[in-house]
Amino acid sequence: MKTTEMNVCQSCGMPIRNMSDFGTYPDGSVNTDYCFHFYQDGHFTDPDVTLEEKIARNIALAQRLGVSRQKAQRMARNILPGLTRWRKAGRKVSS
Ligand SMILES: [Zn+2]
Repeated sequence: MKTTEMNVCQSCGMPIRNMSDFGTYPDGSVNTDYCFHFYQDGHFTDPDVTLEEKIARNIALAQRLGVSRQKAQRMARNILPGLTRWRKAGRKVSS
């Protein structure tokens, strides 16, 4: 199997480059949809988070990594609502 596209976590939108950064199923196998930070042993580590909260957290995280607030907000609002986890939830971003 060939990976042509970079994998992006379908919960937080972060790029995943290493197998060890992927989430895991209960049997220990790798779930390539999500990253290890938010998906472990078959469930989300932050199951109660809303899309709005997730966007706010991502903006804060990106800013800590040196991204400007404006750019971080644009990225989070563009990327997160289209990810599998949030599309399934059927939630809309309110402004
Ligand atoms: Zn993630």
